[in-house]
Parts: sequence; C-alpha cells; structure tokens
Amino acid sequence: MNVLANYPPTDELQALDAAHHLHPFTHANGLAAKGARVITSAKGVWLKDSDGEEIIDGMAGLWCVNIGYGRDELAEAAARQMKELPYYNTFFQTTHVPALMLAKKLAELAPGDLNHVFFASGGSDANDTNIRLVRTYWAEKGQPERDVIISRWNAYHGSTIGGTSLGGMKGMHGQGSLPIPGIEFIDQPHWWAEGGDMTPAEFGLERARQLEERIKEIGPEKVGAFIAEPIQGAGGVIVPPETYWPEIQRIVKKYGILLIADEVICGFGRTGNWFGSQTVGIEPDIMTVAKGLSSGYIPIGASIISDGVADVLRETEFNHGYTYSGHPVACAVALENLRILEEEGIVDNVREVTAPYLREKWEALADHPLVGEAKIVGMMASIALTPEKASRAVFAADAGTVGYICRDRCFANNIIMRSVGDRMIISPPLSMTCDEIDILIARARKSLDECYEKLKVDDLLKAG
Ligand SMILES: *Cc1c(COP(=O)(O)O)cnc(C)c1O
Repeated sequence: MNVLANYPPTDELQALDAAHHLHPFTHANGLAAKGARVITSAKGVWLKDSDGEEIIDGMAGLWCVNIGYGRDELAEAAARQMKELPYYNTFFQTTHVPALMLAKKLAELAPGDLNHVFFASGGSDANDTNIRLVRTYWAEKGQPERDVIISRWNAYHGSTIGGTSLGGMKGMHGQGSLPIPGIEFIDQPHWWAEGGDMTPAEFGLERARQLEERIKEIGPEKVGAFIAEPIQGAGGVIVPPETYWPEIQRIVKKYGILLIADEVICGFGRTGNWFGSQTVGIEPDIMTVAKGLSSGYIPIGASIISDGVADVLRETEFNHGYTYSGHPVACAVALENLRILEEEGIVDNVREVTAPYLREKWEALADHPLVGEAKIVGMMASIALTPEKASRAVFAADAGTVGYICRDRCFANNIIMRSVGDRMIISPPLSMTCDEIDILIARARKSLDECYEKLKVDDLLKAG
C-alpha cells in the first residue's frame, strides 16, 4: 500500500508534521501554531497544496528547480540508473560511468581551466571540501601558514560547521560557537543599505578595497583564499556595483590568493550565463556548485577546481570524501538535467528572452510607494521595502516586520516570494514563460498593495 497516495486531511497532516518533524531555519512552536502548508505535487512553475490551491513558485523551490517541475526524463534517468547500478563508491581505486561522465561534462561547461571535479551531496559539504582543499593545497606548496579564508558578512555558504563558518550570518554563528578559527570577514557590497552618501561606483570600490586592507592586516603570507557568491542570494539578492568585482579580481591576483566563487545559486543559468562568474567577469580557481546542477531533483553538489590547484592537490593523498561523493543516481540525474538545459537552449532563452522581459516588469515595481530599489540579474531579483525612498530609510518597526507582512500577503495570494529582512526576493524556475512572468508580477503587485494598506492601518509606515 502506498501510504502517500491517499493522505489524510490537511489539519491531520499538519498535526503529524508538528509532532515529529523539525524544520530547517524554523521556530518550531511558531510554525506548529499556524500549521505548515503541505505541498503535494508540482508541474512546470506551479505547486499544488493539500487544499488544492495552485501556487506560482517564484523561488524555484529553494533557488534550485531551474528546469521546472515534472520532467519525467529525470525520473526515468534515476530509475534506469537505480536498476543498473544504484550505488558504488569511488574511494578505493574504482569509478563508474555516471560520475566520470558528469565530471567530464562539468569540465566542459565550466569556464577557463576549471577541469577537475570533487563531488559532494550539496553546497554546504562542497564548501567544507573547499576549506580542506585550500588548506591542503597551501600545505603541499610548502606554505601551511596560509590557512586563513576571507569571506563577507551576510554571505551564505551553507549550514554545516564549515559552511556556517564561511558564511557571514551572525544569527547562525551564534548557535554552535562558530565560526571555526581561520575565517575572517569583510563588509558586503550592499549599497542600498550601507552605501551612505557614496555613489554606488565609489562604494563598490571601497568595499572591494576592504579586502586588500584586510589581507595586509592579517599578513598576505597567511591568507589562502577569498570566497564569495558572484551575486549574494540568501543575503537578499544583493547585486554589487559594477566597480566591485574587477577590483576584487585585481586584489586576489596581486596577492596570489585563491578565488572561490560560490556558484550554488548563480550556476547553471540563473544569471543568464552558465555561471555567475561569467556574468560578473571573474576567473575563480574553485567553484562551488549544487542546487541547479540537478534542478533540485536529487541532492548533489561539487567543487570544480582549476588545473593549477588540481596539479598540486594530485601530488598527495587527499584524506577527504563522502560516502555519496559522485553517487551514480545523482550523477545520472544531473547529466540528464544538463542535457535538457543545453539541448532546449534554456540558458540562452533566459539571457535573450525571459530575463529581459522579467527585468522590464520587475524594475517597473520601483514605482510602487513601498518599493525603494528594484534589482535584478538574469532570473534572480530583489526589491527593498522602505517608508521613504529618497533617503533609503528603514522602517521604525524591527527589521523584518514589514517583510514578514508582505510575505504573508504573498502566501495568501498564492505566489512564493520570500522575505529577507525587509527585502522581497524571487528566483523563479528558468523555464518560466513570459505569460507566467505576467502572473507572477501581477500577484507580486497585489501583495505589495495589500501590504501597503495594512501598514497604513497598523501605523507602521514610519521611518526609523
Ligand atoms: C544553498 C547554498 C549553499 C548550501 O547548499 P546546500 O545544498 O543547502 O548545502 C551554499 N552556498 C550558497 C551560495 C547557497 O545558496
């Protein structure tokens, strides 16, 4: 009997969920009081819940369902691989076809000399790999003291001990005595919130030059790598000023520091190119990938490594790996996903058709009285909610209060748009059509209107 086919009513499911299931990044008692929304199926860009509501998914799940839901080809690839070889490891002088073919494919797709792949099960553990890889690389080069990795406040690099440490989210560091030693931070290039009186161009340079100052403070002989997302995702879809990345690239080159691009969100078409590094014009030594690699259909992540770094690493035994590194079913599904992205021209279609269309509609939201800036790169976008556009003011209410109200209106209007503090963000499936973008924007605008009315009624439309 399939216990999932004929499920009980929503309230019973919610009670069971609250009794036994602890959710990620969730205040459990708060959620239990409301009841979780139960998603039961999905097709294209549409989710269906246990009450039969149809919801447009503006977040591609969690930034990952790039090709959209319901592609049977991926299910069939998984079934085929499970029947043929459901599992084997790649530890002990063995390999298998899905892992080697996916590594070859990633080497082809990744820019420059990023030709070597170490597999993980997601982005967090791939970043853990990167910490060990960078430190092992420098030790092999005879410079073991180069063990410091510089990151940025409000970065997101995952939720393992390593990922949380590399990330710059203070609320996460506070739980579990993190970061681990040897991780340092500079400020983020978030002009709207932190740019003060500077122009975006001046501010981008100032923030990039913090990296050079930090390297000098720590001592260049101690710094091994700098890690960053090409466009910050979970931090609020923060698009850096154009002056930022060229200056970062100059600085890492000058000091011979490895550049790690965390492409977990930006990779596989999200920014209108295969990788965000191409969009912002950088040449990383290591890339972290996950999410869109399998369009979220199955867990898989990887570090893609340059010839130069791999040549050194190959000189020693790297005492590191996961049981599921290069899992054959995950690799087979990822290969099928990449085939679809490539053969259906989805990345080109994003760059040439849907992303420009979304840009026009999204930027028009800046006319709304609640919206300060509207930022977008490819198919990832954000708006800043503000009580006063001209001064880029924050609300008097605690940060996140207004964002939460707006998200509640989105929830009621059957659109998934997420709040990060008082920013609203989207990252829809790359398969979203222009007609679906119209629906997304109409629901977003309706939710903003309702949020605005509620702020007036609750007297929350005040600058702090
Ligand atoms: C989601 C994310 C991660 C973590 O990936 P998981 O698969 O959740 O472990 C790491 N880096 C970035 C930029 C992410 O967005």
